[in-house]
Amino acid sequence: MPLKRKQIVEALYNIAGKDHVVTDEQILKESSVDRFRRFEAYHGVYSLPMPAAVVYVKNTHDVAAVIKFANENRVNVVPRTGHSATEGGLETALENSIVLDGSGMNQILAIDTYNMQATVQCGASLQELDDRLREQGYTTGHSPQSKPLAQLGGLVATRSIGQFSTLYGGIEDMVVGLEAVFPDGGITRIKNVPRRAAGPDIRHVIIGNEGTLCFITEITVKIYKYFPENNQFLGYTLDNMKTGFEILREVMVNGYRPSVARLYDPEDGAYHFSHFAEDRCVLIFVAEGVKPIADATATAIEDIVDRHDECVKVDPKLIEKWFAHLNWDPANLAAEKVEIMETKNVCNTTEISANWGIINDIYEVCMQRVRNEIPDLTLLGGHSSHSYLNGTNLYFVYFYNVVDCKPEEELTKYHLAIKKIIVEETIKAGGSMCHHHGVGKHRTHWIQKEYGSSYYILKKLKSAFDPNNIMNMGTIIPLEK
Ligand SMILES: Cc1cc2nc3c(=O)[nH]c(=O)nc-3n(C[C@H](O)[C@H](O)[C@H](O)COP(=O)(O)OP(=O)(O)OC[C@H]3O[C@@H](n4cnc5c(N)ncnc54)[C@H](O)[C@@H]3O)c2cc1C
Repeated sequence: MPLKRKQIVEALYNIAGKDHVVTDEQILKESSVDRFRRFEAYHGVYSLPMPAAVVYVKNTHDVAAVIKFANENRVNVVPRTGHSATEGGLETALENSIVLDGSGMNQILAIDTYNMQATVQCGASLQELDDRLREQGYTTGHSPQSKPLAQLGGLVATRSIGQFSTLYGGIEDMVVGLEAVFPDGGITRIKNVPRRAAGPDIRHVIIGNEGTLCFITEITVKIYKYFPENNQFLGYTLDNMKTGFEILREVMVNGYRPSVARLYDPEDGAYHFSHFAEDRCVLIFVAEGVKPIADATATAIEDIVDRHDECVKVDPKLIEKWFAHLNWDPANLAAEKVEIMETKNVCNTTEISANWGIINDIYEVCMQRVRNEIPDLTLLGGHSSHSYLNGTNLYFVYFYNVVDCKPEEELTKYHLAIKKIIVEETIKAGGSMCHHHGVGKHRTHWIQKEYGSSYYILKKLKSAFDPNNIMNMGTIIPLEK
Protein backbone atom coordinates (compact mmCIF):
# COMPACT_ATOMS: atom_id res chain seq x y z
CA MET A 1 0.00 0.00 0.00
CA PRO A 2 1.51 3.36 -0.97
CA LEU A 3 1.86 5.79 1.93
CA LYS A 4 -0.74 8.52 2.22
CA ARG A 5 0.32 12.16 1.89
CA LYS A 6 -0.22 12.74 5.62
CA GLN A 7 2.10 9.86 6.54
CA ILE A 8 4.82 11.13 4.20
CA VAL A 9 4.59 14.66 5.58
CA GLU A 10 4.68 13.41 9.19
CA ALA A 11 7.78 11.37 8.47
CA LEU A 12 9.46 14.38 6.83
CA TYR A 13 8.65 16.56 9.86
CA ASN A 14 10.45 13.99 12.03
CA ILE A 15 13.48 13.80 9.76
CA ALA A 16 14.04 17.41 8.73
CA GLY A 17 12.03 19.43 11.25
CA LYS A 18 8.64 21.04 10.61
CA ASP A 19 10.19 24.39 9.63
CA HIS A 20 11.94 22.75 6.70
CA VAL A 21 8.93 20.99 5.19
CA VAL A 22 6.58 23.03 2.99
CA THR A 23 3.08 21.86 2.05
CA ASP A 24 1.59 25.14 0.88
CA GLU A 25 -0.72 24.37 -2.07
CA GLN A 26 0.69 27.02 -4.43
CA ILE A 27 4.29 26.07 -3.67
CA LEU A 28 3.47 22.42 -4.30
CA LYS A 29 1.94 23.35 -7.66
CA GLU A 30 4.98 25.40 -8.64
CA SER A 31 7.21 22.53 -7.50
CA SER A 32 5.44 20.04 -9.77
CA VAL A 33 6.95 21.68 -12.89
CA ASP A 34 9.97 23.54 -14.24
CA ARG A 35 10.41 26.01 -17.08
CA PHE A 36 9.34 23.40 -19.64
CA ARG A 37 5.69 24.04 -18.63
CA ARG A 38 5.96 27.74 -17.91
CA PHE A 39 3.23 28.70 -20.41
CA GLU A 40 0.72 26.47 -18.58
CA ALA A 41 1.98 27.66 -15.20
CA TYR A 42 1.62 31.33 -16.16
CA HIS A 43 -2.03 30.55 -16.88
CA GLY A 44 -2.46 28.82 -13.51
CA VAL A 45 -2.74 25.39 -15.14
CA TYR A 46 -0.95 22.60 -13.26
CA SER A 47 -1.77 19.26 -14.84
CA LEU A 48 0.83 17.00 -13.22
CA PRO A 49 0.50 14.90 -10.05
CA MET A 50 1.03 17.04 -6.94
CA PRO A 51 4.03 16.36 -4.67
CA ALA A 52 3.39 15.67 -0.98
CA ALA A 53 5.92 18.25 0.21
CA VAL A 54 9.07 20.19 -0.52
CA VAL A 55 11.85 19.46 1.98
CA TYR A 56 14.55 22.09 2.38
CA VAL A 57 17.44 19.99 3.66
CA LYS A 58 20.23 21.47 5.79
CA ASN A 59 22.97 18.84 5.56
CA THR A 60 24.03 15.55 3.99
CA HIS A 61 22.66 13.51 6.88
CA ASP A 62 19.16 14.91 6.37
CA VAL A 63 19.45 14.13 2.66
CA ALA A 64 20.41 10.56 3.51
CA ALA A 65 17.56 10.17 5.99
CA VAL A 66 14.94 11.48 3.53
CA ILE A 67 16.19 9.27 0.70
CA LYS A 68 16.39 6.18 2.92
CA PHE A 69 12.79 6.77 4.08
CA ALA A 70 11.66 7.26 0.47
CA ASN A 71 13.44 4.10 -0.66
CA GLU A 72 11.98 1.97 2.12
CA ASN A 73 8.50 3.26 1.38
CA ARG A 74 8.73 3.51 -2.43
CA VAL A 75 8.15 7.26 -2.54
CA ASN A 76 9.41 9.14 -5.62
CA VAL A 77 12.09 11.76 -4.89
CA VAL A 78 12.77 14.74 -7.16
CA PRO A 79 16.14 16.35 -6.33
CA ARG A 80 16.29 20.11 -6.87
CA THR A 81 18.66 23.04 -6.38
CA GLY A 82 18.33 26.22 -8.51
CA HIS A 83 14.97 25.31 -10.16
CA SER A 84 16.17 26.60 -13.57
CA ALA A 85 15.72 23.28 -15.43
CA THR A 86 14.20 23.57 -18.90
CA GLU A 87 13.43 19.97 -19.94
CA GLY A 88 10.93 18.72 -17.35
CA GLY A 89 13.59 17.19 -15.10
CA LEU A 90 11.81 18.68 -12.09
CA GLU A 91 8.33 17.49 -13.05
CA THR A 92 6.76 15.27 -10.41
CA ALA A 93 5.68 12.24 -12.43
CA LEU A 94 3.93 10.60 -9.47
CA GLU A 95 1.40 11.80 -6.91
CA ASN A 96 2.90 12.47 -3.47
CA SER A 97 6.52 12.73 -4.59
CA ILE A 98 9.04 14.38 -2.28
CA VAL A 99 10.79 17.40 -3.77
CA LEU A 100 14.20 17.31 -2.10
CA ASP A 101 15.54 20.86 -2.25
CA GLY A 102 19.25 21.41 -1.55
CA SER A 103 19.27 25.18 -2.19
CA GLY A 104 19.83 25.84 1.53
CA MET A 105 23.06 23.82 1.44
CA ASN A 106 24.75 26.81 -0.13
CA GLN A 107 28.14 27.13 1.53
CA ILE A 108 31.43 27.67 -0.27
CA LEU A 109 33.47 25.31 1.89
CA ALA A 110 37.00 25.92 0.62
CA ILE A 111 38.90 27.85 -2.01
CA ASP A 112 42.35 26.31 -2.40
CA THR A 113 44.42 28.51 -4.72
CA TYR A 114 47.53 26.36 -4.30
CA ASN A 115 45.93 23.13 -5.53
CA MET A 116 43.60 25.12 -7.79
CA GLN A 117 40.27 23.75 -6.63
CA ALA A 118 37.16 24.93 -4.77
CA THR A 119 34.73 22.84 -2.73
CA VAL A 120 31.08 23.82 -2.34
CA GLN A 121 27.77 22.42 -1.14
CA CYS A 122 25.19 21.49 -3.76
CA GLY A 123 23.12 24.66 -3.31
CA ALA A 124 26.05 27.04 -3.77
CA SER A 125 25.30 29.65 -6.40
CA LEU A 126 27.68 29.54 -9.36
CA GLN A 127 27.43 33.33 -9.65
CA GLU A 128 28.51 33.76 -6.04
CA LEU A 129 31.36 31.26 -6.34
CA ASP A 130 32.69 32.79 -9.55
CA ASP A 131 32.35 36.36 -8.20
CA ARG A 132 34.32 35.36 -5.08
CA LEU A 133 37.00 33.73 -7.22
CA ARG A 134 37.28 36.65 -9.64
CA GLU A 135 37.86 39.03 -6.73
CA GLN A 136 40.99 36.97 -6.05
CA GLY A 137 42.09 36.67 -9.70
CA TYR A 138 40.61 33.22 -10.37
CA THR A 139 37.55 31.78 -12.11
CA THR A 140 35.66 28.50 -12.38
CA GLY A 141 35.65 28.97 -16.16
CA HIS A 142 31.97 27.93 -16.04
CA SER A 143 29.51 30.47 -17.34
CA PRO A 144 26.17 29.09 -18.53
CA GLN A 145 23.63 31.76 -19.40
CA SER A 146 21.76 30.62 -16.28
CA LYS A 147 24.75 31.46 -14.05
CA PRO A 148 22.70 33.87 -11.89
CA LEU A 149 20.01 31.19 -11.32
CA ALA A 150 21.70 27.78 -11.31
CA GLN A 151 23.43 26.07 -8.39
CA LEU A 152 26.32 23.64 -8.42
CA GLY A 153 24.26 20.50 -7.69
CA GLY A 154 21.97 21.05 -10.67
CA LEU A 155 24.82 22.15 -12.90
CA VAL A 156 26.65 18.88 -12.25
CA ALA A 157 23.48 16.78 -12.42
CA THR A 158 22.63 18.08 -15.91
CA ARG A 159 26.16 17.99 -17.43
CA SER A 160 25.83 21.72 -18.00
CA ILE A 161 28.11 23.78 -20.19
CA GLY A 162 29.05 27.45 -20.23
CA GLN A 163 29.90 30.13 -22.77
CA PHE A 164 33.68 29.70 -22.35
CA SER A 165 33.56 25.94 -22.89
CA THR A 166 35.88 25.85 -25.88
CA LEU A 167 38.74 26.68 -23.50
CA TYR A 168 37.55 25.34 -20.13
CA GLY A 169 35.29 22.47 -21.23
CA GLY A 170 31.91 21.43 -19.84
CA ILE A 171 31.24 20.76 -16.15
CA GLU A 172 32.48 17.19 -16.66
CA ASP A 173 35.96 18.61 -17.35
CA MET A 174 35.85 20.73 -14.19
CA VAL A 175 34.60 18.35 -11.50
CA VAL A 176 37.43 16.90 -9.43
CA GLY A 177 35.54 15.03 -6.71
CA LEU A 178 32.04 14.71 -5.28
CA GLU A 179 29.91 13.60 -2.37
CA ALA A 180 26.52 12.03 -3.08
CA VAL A 181 23.75 10.08 -1.38
CA PHE A 182 22.43 6.95 -3.10
CA PRO A 183 18.92 5.48 -2.64
CA ASP A 184 19.93 3.12 0.18
CA GLY A 185 20.90 6.21 2.16
CA GLY A 186 24.63 5.52 1.75
CA ILE A 187 26.89 8.57 1.57
CA THR A 188 29.63 8.22 -1.05
CA ARG A 189 32.65 10.47 -1.45
CA ILE A 190 34.93 10.47 -4.48
CA LYS A 191 38.30 11.95 -3.49
CA ASN A 192 40.00 14.92 -5.11
CA VAL A 193 43.00 13.80 -7.15
CA PRO A 194 44.41 15.14 -10.44
CA ARG A 195 43.87 11.83 -12.27
CA ARG A 196 43.74 8.13 -11.58
CA ALA A 197 43.69 4.91 -13.55
CA ALA A 198 42.20 2.74 -10.82
CA GLY A 199 39.32 1.41 -12.87
CA PRO A 200 36.53 3.33 -14.63
CA ASP A 201 35.99 7.00 -13.84
CA ILE A 202 33.11 6.69 -11.38
CA ARG A 203 32.54 10.46 -11.28
CA HIS A 204 30.62 9.92 -14.50
CA VAL A 205 28.01 7.80 -12.75
CA ILE A 206 27.10 10.96 -10.86
CA ILE A 207 27.75 13.76 -13.37
CA GLY A 208 24.69 14.04 -15.61
CA ASN A 209 22.49 11.67 -13.59
CA GLU A 210 19.68 14.31 -13.47
CA GLY A 211 18.64 13.13 -10.02
CA THR A 212 17.88 9.61 -11.26
CA LEU A 213 20.66 7.75 -9.41
CA CYS A 214 21.69 9.86 -6.44
CA PHE A 215 21.52 13.25 -4.74
CA ILE A 216 24.73 15.28 -5.09
CA THR A 217 25.60 17.02 -1.82
CA GLU A 218 29.11 18.38 -2.31
CA ILE A 219 31.31 19.20 -5.28
CA THR A 220 34.95 20.09 -5.82
CA VAL A 221 35.74 21.90 -9.07
CA LYS A 222 38.96 23.10 -10.66
CA ILE A 223 39.72 26.80 -10.64
CA TYR A 224 41.75 28.74 -13.17
CA LYS A 225 43.74 31.97 -13.18
CA TYR A 226 41.69 34.79 -14.68
CA PHE A 227 43.17 37.43 -17.00
CA PRO A 228 40.24 39.50 -18.32
CA GLU A 229 42.62 42.35 -19.24
CA ASN A 230 44.03 40.13 -22.03
CA ASN A 231 40.65 39.24 -23.59
CA GLN A 232 40.46 39.77 -27.33
CA PHE A 233 37.03 39.95 -28.95
CA LEU A 234 36.56 39.16 -32.64
CA GLY A 235 33.38 39.38 -34.72
CA TYR A 236 32.48 38.90 -38.38
CA THR A 237 29.42 38.76 -40.59
CA LEU A 238 29.29 36.19 -43.39
CA ASP A 239 26.94 34.79 -46.03
CA ASN A 240 26.24 31.27 -44.91
CA MET A 241 26.41 28.75 -42.08
CA LYS A 242 28.42 26.24 -44.09
CA THR A 243 31.38 28.64 -44.31
CA GLY A 244 30.97 29.41 -40.60
CA PHE A 245 31.10 25.72 -39.63
CA GLU A 246 34.19 25.30 -41.82
CA ILE A 247 35.95 28.21 -40.06
CA LEU A 248 35.05 26.81 -36.62
CA ARG A 249 36.42 23.44 -37.73
CA GLU A 250 39.67 24.93 -38.99
CA VAL A 251 40.17 26.76 -35.69
CA MET A 252 39.54 23.60 -33.66
CA VAL A 253 41.47 21.06 -35.72
CA ASN A 254 44.52 23.33 -35.78
CA GLY A 255 44.59 23.23 -32.01
CA TYR A 256 43.48 26.78 -31.14
CA ARG A 257 41.41 27.19 -28.01
CA PRO A 258 39.45 30.43 -28.01
CA SER A 259 37.22 30.49 -24.92
CA VAL A 260 34.26 31.45 -27.11
CA ALA A 261 33.55 30.28 -30.65
CA ARG A 262 29.98 31.02 -31.79
CA LEU A 263 28.20 31.04 -35.12
CA TYR A 264 24.69 32.51 -35.56
CA ASP A 265 22.42 32.06 -38.55
CA PRO A 266 20.76 35.19 -40.02
CA GLU A 267 17.49 35.02 -38.03
CA ASP A 268 19.12 34.27 -34.69
CA GLY A 269 21.86 36.77 -35.58
CA ALA A 270 19.30 39.50 -36.28
CA TYR A 271 17.70 38.82 -32.87
CA HIS A 272 21.02 39.36 -31.06
CA PHE A 273 22.88 41.76 -33.34
CA SER A 274 20.25 43.76 -35.22
CA HIS A 275 22.55 46.82 -35.22
CA PHE A 276 25.12 45.17 -37.50
CA ALA A 277 24.04 41.71 -38.69
CA GLU A 278 21.90 42.89 -41.63
CA ASP A 279 20.46 39.46 -42.41
CA ARG A 280 23.86 37.77 -42.44
CA CYS A 281 25.37 35.05 -40.28
CA VAL A 282 27.53 36.20 -37.36
CA LEU A 283 30.76 34.59 -36.19
CA ILE A 284 32.24 35.46 -32.79
CA PHE A 285 35.42 34.53 -30.96
CA VAL A 286 36.96 35.45 -27.64
CA ALA A 287 40.62 34.62 -27.02
CA GLU A 288 41.70 34.67 -23.39
CA GLY A 289 44.43 33.56 -20.99
CA VAL A 290 47.96 34.81 -20.46
CA LYS A 291 48.82 37.53 -22.98
CA PRO A 292 51.05 35.55 -25.39
CA ILE A 293 48.42 32.81 -25.68
CA ALA A 294 45.48 35.20 -26.05
CA ASP A 295 47.35 37.23 -28.68
CA ALA A 296 48.54 34.19 -30.64
CA THR A 297 45.05 32.66 -30.59
CA ALA A 298 43.44 35.86 -31.86
CA THR A 299 46.05 36.32 -34.61
CA ALA A 300 45.65 32.73 -35.79
CA ILE A 301 41.85 33.04 -35.90
CA GLU A 302 42.12 36.27 -37.89
CA ASP A 303 44.40 34.48 -40.38
CA ILE A 304 41.93 31.62 -40.76
CA VAL A 305 38.95 33.94 -41.23
CA ASP A 306 40.89 36.10 -43.73
CA ARG A 307 41.07 33.13 -46.09
CA HIS A 308 37.26 33.29 -46.49
CA ASP A 309 36.36 36.28 -48.66
CA GLU A 310 32.74 36.50 -47.58
CA CYS A 311 33.68 37.41 -43.96
CA VAL A 312 33.44 41.07 -42.99
CA LYS A 313 35.01 42.20 -39.71
CA VAL A 314 32.87 43.89 -37.06
CA ASP A 315 34.07 46.43 -34.49
CA PRO A 316 35.30 44.25 -31.57
CA LYS A 317 33.77 46.70 -29.08
CA LEU A 318 30.29 45.68 -30.28
CA ILE A 319 31.06 42.05 -29.44
CA GLU A 320 32.52 42.93 -26.04
CA LYS A 321 29.45 45.02 -25.21
CA TRP A 322 27.06 42.26 -26.30
CA PHE A 323 28.87 39.72 -24.13
CA ALA A 324 28.56 41.82 -21.01
CA HIS A 325 24.76 41.45 -21.15
CA LEU A 326 24.36 37.88 -22.35
CA ASN A 327 23.64 36.22 -19.03
CA TRP A 328 20.08 35.85 -17.84
CA ASP A 329 19.01 38.55 -15.41
CA PRO A 330 16.72 37.08 -12.71
CA ALA A 331 14.58 40.24 -13.08
CA ASN A 332 13.72 38.89 -16.56
CA LEU A 333 11.59 36.14 -15.02
CA ALA A 334 8.77 38.50 -13.99
CA ALA A 335 9.04 40.54 -17.19
CA GLU A 336 8.94 37.39 -19.30
CA LYS A 337 5.67 36.30 -17.69
CA VAL A 338 4.00 39.66 -18.38
CA GLU A 339 5.19 39.63 -21.99
CA ILE A 340 4.06 36.07 -22.66
CA MET A 341 0.64 36.70 -21.13
CA GLU A 342 0.19 39.84 -23.24
CA THR A 343 1.55 38.61 -26.55
CA LYS A 344 1.07 34.80 -26.36
CA ASN A 345 4.50 34.72 -28.01
CA VAL A 346 6.72 32.00 -26.51
CA CYS A 347 10.41 31.18 -27.01
CA ASN A 348 11.81 27.67 -26.64
CA THR A 349 14.98 25.87 -27.65
CA THR A 350 16.43 22.45 -28.48
CA GLU A 351 20.16 21.73 -28.49
CA ILE A 352 21.95 18.87 -30.24
CA SER A 353 25.51 17.97 -31.25
CA ALA A 354 27.14 16.26 -34.24
CA ASN A 355 30.43 15.72 -36.01
CA TRP A 356 31.68 18.32 -38.50
CA GLY A 357 30.80 16.11 -41.46
CA ILE A 358 27.04 16.19 -40.81
CA ILE A 359 26.33 19.34 -38.82
CA ASN A 360 25.40 21.58 -41.75
CA ASP A 361 23.06 18.94 -43.21
CA ILE A 362 21.29 18.61 -39.84
CA TYR A 363 20.97 22.38 -39.63
CA GLU A 364 19.46 22.63 -43.11
CA VAL A 365 17.02 19.73 -42.88
CA CYS A 366 15.74 20.80 -39.44
CA MET A 367 15.25 24.41 -40.51
CA GLN A 368 13.40 23.33 -43.64
CA ARG A 369 11.15 20.81 -41.91
CA VAL A 370 10.27 23.06 -38.96
CA ARG A 371 9.47 25.94 -41.30
CA ASN A 372 7.27 23.71 -43.48
CA GLU A 373 5.51 21.76 -40.75
CA ILE A 374 5.00 24.10 -37.78
CA PRO A 375 2.44 26.92 -37.81
CA ASP A 376 2.58 30.37 -36.21
CA LEU A 377 6.39 30.73 -36.05
CA THR A 378 7.61 34.28 -35.48
CA LEU A 379 11.33 33.39 -35.37
CA LEU A 380 13.25 30.28 -36.29
CA GLY A 381 17.02 30.32 -36.02
CA GLY A 382 20.03 28.52 -34.66
CA HIS A 383 23.56 28.92 -33.47
CA SER A 384 26.61 26.87 -32.66
CA SER A 385 28.12 27.85 -29.32
CA HIS A 386 30.37 24.97 -28.20
CA SER A 387 32.97 23.48 -30.52
CA TYR A 388 35.25 20.45 -30.22
CA LEU A 389 38.02 18.79 -32.18
CA ASN A 390 35.51 16.51 -33.94
CA GLY A 391 32.32 18.56 -34.12
CA THR A 392 30.08 21.16 -32.60
CA ASN A 393 26.65 21.79 -31.13
CA LEU A 394 23.57 23.43 -32.60
CA TYR A 395 21.14 25.38 -30.49
CA PHE A 396 17.82 25.82 -32.30
CA VAL A 397 15.80 28.81 -31.11
CA TYR A 398 12.14 29.26 -31.98
CA PHE A 399 9.44 31.77 -31.11
CA TYR A 400 5.80 31.09 -31.91
CA ASN A 401 2.45 32.71 -31.27
CA VAL A 402 0.15 30.37 -29.40
CA VAL A 403 -2.98 30.41 -31.57
CA ASP A 404 -6.30 28.59 -31.17
CA CYS A 405 -5.29 26.28 -28.34
CA LYS A 406 -5.65 25.93 -24.60
CA PRO A 407 -2.55 26.55 -22.41
CA GLU A 408 -2.16 22.80 -21.87
CA GLU A 409 -2.10 22.19 -25.66
CA GLU A 410 0.77 24.61 -26.34
CA LEU A 411 3.53 22.05 -25.84
CA THR A 412 2.08 19.39 -28.11
CA LYS A 413 1.19 21.81 -30.87
CA TYR A 414 4.50 23.71 -30.90
CA HIS A 415 7.48 22.98 -28.63
CA LEU A 416 7.26 19.17 -28.62
CA ALA A 417 6.40 19.05 -32.32
CA ILE A 418 9.51 21.09 -33.14
CA LYS A 419 11.68 19.12 -30.71
CA LYS A 420 10.51 15.89 -32.36
CA ILE A 421 11.69 17.04 -35.78
CA ILE A 422 15.07 18.19 -34.49
CA VAL A 423 15.69 15.08 -32.37
CA GLU A 424 14.60 12.64 -35.06
CA GLU A 425 16.66 14.27 -37.80
CA THR A 426 19.72 14.48 -35.53
CA ILE A 427 19.57 10.84 -34.45
CA LYS A 428 18.91 9.73 -38.02
CA ALA A 429 22.05 11.57 -39.18
CA GLY A 430 24.20 10.12 -36.37
CA GLY A 431 24.36 13.06 -33.92
CA SER A 432 23.28 13.33 -30.28
CA MET A 433 19.76 14.53 -29.46
CA CYS A 434 20.91 16.39 -26.38
CA HIS A 435 23.96 18.62 -25.99
CA HIS A 436 23.59 20.28 -22.57
CA HIS A 437 20.10 20.76 -21.14
CA GLY A 438 19.69 17.15 -20.03
CA VAL A 439 17.16 14.60 -21.24
CA GLY A 440 14.56 15.60 -18.66
CA LYS A 441 11.17 13.98 -19.21
CA HIS A 442 10.49 14.94 -22.80
CA ARG A 443 13.34 13.40 -24.78
CA THR A 444 12.97 10.01 -23.06
CA HIS A 445 10.93 8.59 -26.00
CA TRP A 446 14.14 8.60 -28.05
CA ILE A 447 16.61 7.50 -25.37
CA GLN A 448 16.93 3.94 -26.72
CA LYS A 449 17.61 5.23 -30.22
CA GLU A 450 20.08 7.76 -28.82
CA TYR A 451 22.06 5.04 -27.04
CA GLY A 452 21.63 2.08 -29.42
CA SER A 453 23.25 -1.06 -27.99
CA SER A 454 24.85 0.95 -25.16
CA TYR A 455 21.38 1.55 -23.67
CA TYR A 456 22.12 -1.69 -21.79
CA ILE A 457 24.72 0.14 -19.68
CA LEU A 458 22.33 2.96 -18.80
CA LYS A 459 19.52 0.58 -17.78
CA LYS A 460 21.95 -1.48 -15.67
CA LEU A 461 23.16 1.62 -13.86
CA LYS A 462 19.58 2.55 -13.02
CA SER A 463 18.60 -0.90 -11.80
CA ALA A 464 21.83 -1.33 -9.82
CA PHE A 465 21.79 1.98 -7.99
CA ASP A 466 18.05 2.61 -7.80
CA PRO A 467 16.42 -0.84 -7.81
CA ASN A 468 13.14 0.49 -6.42
CA ASN A 469 13.03 3.28 -9.02
CA ILE A 470 12.44 6.05 -6.49
CA MET A 471 14.83 8.64 -7.96
CA ASN A 472 13.18 11.17 -10.26
CA MET A 473 10.98 8.68 -12.01
CA GLY A 474 10.41 9.29 -15.73
CA THR A 475 13.62 11.31 -16.17
CA ILE A 476 16.25 10.03 -18.68
CA ILE A 477 14.59 6.57 -18.68
CA PRO A 478 10.93 6.66 -19.73
CA LEU A 479 8.12 5.76 -17.35
CA GLU A 480 6.87 2.23 -17.88
CA LYS A 481 3.15 2.00 -18.56
C1 LIG B 1 17.66 31.33 -18.96
C2 LIG B 1 18.33 29.99 -18.89
C3 LIG B 1 19.57 29.83 -19.49
C4 LIG B 1 20.21 28.58 -19.43
N1 LIG B 1 21.46 28.48 -19.97
C5 LIG B 1 22.13 27.31 -19.87
C6 LIG B 1 23.45 27.19 -20.38
O1 LIG B 1 24.04 28.13 -20.92
N2 LIG B 1 24.08 26.00 -20.26
C7 LIG B 1 23.48 24.94 -19.65
O2 LIG B 1 24.09 23.88 -19.56
N3 LIG B 1 22.22 25.02 -19.17
C8 LIG B 1 21.54 26.18 -19.25
N4 LIG B 1 20.27 26.27 -18.74
C9 LIG B 1 19.64 25.10 -18.11
C10 LIG B 1 19.82 25.03 -16.58
O3 LIG B 1 20.21 26.23 -16.01
C11 LIG B 1 20.85 24.02 -16.25
O4 LIG B 1 20.31 22.76 -16.61
C12 LIG B 1 21.30 23.98 -14.78
O5 LIG B 1 22.28 22.99 -14.68
C13 LIG B 1 20.28 23.68 -13.79
O6 LIG B 1 20.81 23.95 -12.48
P1 LIG B 1 19.80 24.17 -11.27
O7 LIG B 1 20.61 24.32 -10.03
O8 LIG B 1 18.83 25.23 -11.56
O9 LIG B 1 19.11 22.73 -11.23
P2 LIG B 1 17.58 22.34 -11.11
O10 LIG B 1 16.78 23.07 -12.11
O11 LIG B 1 17.16 22.45 -9.69
O12 LIG B 1 17.65 20.78 -11.50
C14 LIG B 1 18.06 20.37 -12.78
C15 LIG B 1 18.11 18.83 -12.84
O13 LIG B 1 19.13 18.35 -11.98
C16 LIG B 1 18.59 17.54 -10.93
N5 LIG B 1 19.25 17.98 -9.69
C17 LIG B 1 19.25 19.22 -9.15
N6 LIG B 1 19.99 19.22 -8.02
C18 LIG B 1 20.46 17.98 -7.84
C19 LIG B 1 21.27 17.36 -6.85
N7 LIG B 1 21.76 18.04 -5.81
N8 LIG B 1 21.54 16.04 -6.98
C20 LIG B 1 21.06 15.32 -8.03
N9 LIG B 1 20.28 15.84 -9.00
C21 LIG B 1 19.99 17.17 -8.90
C22 LIG B 1 17.10 17.81 -10.92
O14 LIG B 1 16.37 16.70 -10.48
C23 LIG B 1 16.83 18.14 -12.39
O15 LIG B 1 16.68 16.96 -13.12
C24 LIG B 1 19.59 27.48 -18.79
C25 LIG B 1 18.34 27.66 -18.19
C26 LIG B 1 17.72 28.90 -18.22
C27 LIG B 1 16.40 29.05 -17.55
